[in-house]
Amino acid sequence: MSDAQTPPRPQALPGDVIARLKAALGPKGWSQDANELGPHIADWRGRFQGQTPILLKPANTAEVSAAVRICHEAGIAITPQGGNTSLCGASTPQGEVLMTLKRMNAVREVDPDNDSMTVEAGCILESLQNTAASAGRLFPLSLGSQGSAMIGGLISTNAGGVHVLRYGMTRELVLGLEAVLPDGTIWSGLTGLRKDNTGYDLKQLLIGAEGTLGIITAATLKLFPRPAKMELAFCGLNSVEDAVSFLSLAKKVSGGAVTAFEIMPRLALDFVLAFVPGTRDPLESSHPWYVVCEMSFGRVEGARETLEAALGEAFEAELISDAAIAENESQALDFWRLRESIALAERGQGTAIKHDISIPVSKMAAFIKLAGERIKTIFPDGVVVAFGHVGDGNVHYNIVGLDEATQQAMLAKGTAISSCVYDTVDEFGGSISAEHGIGILKREELAARKPVDVAVMRAIKQALDPKGIMNPRVLLG
Ligand SMILES: Cc1cc2nc3c(=O)[nH]c(=O)nc-3n(C[C@H](O)[C@H](O)[C@H](O)COP(=O)(O)OP(=O)(O)OC[C@H]3O[C@@H](n4cnc5c(N)ncnc54)[C@H](O)[C@@H]3O)c2cc1C
Repeated sequence: MSDAQTPPRPQALPGDVIARLKAALGPKGWSQDANELGPHIADWRGRFQGQTPILLKPANTAEVSAAVRICHEAGIAITPQGGNTSLCGASTPQGEVLMTLKRMNAVREVDPDNDSMTVEAGCILESLQNTAASAGRLFPLSLGSQGSAMIGGLISTNAGGVHVLRYGMTRELVLGLEAVLPDGTIWSGLTGLRKDNTGYDLKQLLIGAEGTLGIITAATLKLFPRPAKMELAFCGLNSVEDAVSFLSLAKKVSGGAVTAFEIMPRLALDFVLAFVPGTRDPLESSHPWYVVCEMSFGRVEGARETLEAALGEAFEAELISDAAIAENESQALDFWRLRESIALAERGQGTAIKHDISIPVSKMAAFIKLAGERIKTIFPDGVVVAFGHVGDGNVHYNIVGLDEATQQAMLAKGTAISSCVYDTVDEFGGSISAEHGIGILKREELAARKPVDVAVMRAIKQALDPKGIMNPRVLLG
């Protein structure tokens, strides 16, 4: 079943603009070949089918600048694209010139003593994790799309992932940026400094801007010491309340060594076991909820004992019912696969109404319960699958139908269901977008719920992009 949207007509692009863009980027720097364009103009979820008159593939910052300058002069809109893994339609062009940063994938510098590295926007996250590891350091950003997502896109969405509770969002991992502003000006803000109080922090404007204020071409990123030992447990438990109490206990017993704490209900595990080949349940019996708990240690000695002590206390307090500890790296990867494959498995299950929300951790259990009760009154056949980064207060609060007829009926109630979820989020002091951004999916919700914020954002957008050429449909719309 698909809820793909009808493609709009491509933006009419004067022939001389096309010719100037092609000349500026050279023969390797553009494409109008339908086969090459295909993967760039459909989104990961299969929800949006887009169009573009031309795909630009600049090789360096000067080429990005030249292309943006041409578009600015002609008033032509641009959508920047990284790995095209956006879950809210932010990177699918709807007629704009599309610019992929994939050819800009050089590591410009690794400075282990400064715990930093400077990389180009098209570097894929997984390769940057490996670059950091080769230098004996950790780049802690880690998420399910890390094999495709690029650092420019991750910064532009202020991505989160599984390590936020220890290392923070992408925003906290960026020391400096280089970007091309909407008139083509190159802003060189690359720096490895931790302290720099020279007025407004311009990089923070671009982080999370979803490509609406300029094109990020490079970034200086923070590195961290590599943990000497990581321990991972897959635990079965009865409730979200117990999971939150277990999190507090695990933090206390380990002296703050918890680096990831992810939750999933049994149904999410069932989806993964059904749709992802080679997966298996690590525990013997079934449990209503599961937690993946990761701890990271500076020393090998005592690491396993610390995890076992936390699990032991949690058993005694009846917070967990069963647990498996990963005995080696391959088992740890298997446990992680169960968690990281949920989005993929949900796609196999069919259409879901998805919400990426955050709530203070202490209120998470009450939120999940109340929102679930309210959804039942709107659509009794909908089943809530709330999973994800409970350790930092972010769950993906998705409503699924277990067969196609129910999914169709559910879609008809989609607006009411989402309003109910977001109203409840507001009551609990949460956010309607924890880590995926706004894109085109949540523009109206954002405008309705944060009018003052949106007015200020529009003023900033007007100051930097008066012609409105940078990703004009997303975020502010
Ligand atoms: C399986 C899966 C799991 C995921 N898990 C998580 C998760 O745990 N946590 C999380 O936060 N997100 C998650 N995501 C979504 C996440 O937003 C993206 O994976 C990532 O942040 C986007 O990177 P990208 O390179 O694919 O960017 P794209 O999707 O290409 O672009 C995203 C946005 O950034 C803009 N953009 C891209 N590159 C640039 C640039 N160089 N300069 C300016 N603007 C630019 C685009 O125009 C668009 O608005 C997941 C996605 C998938 C498919």
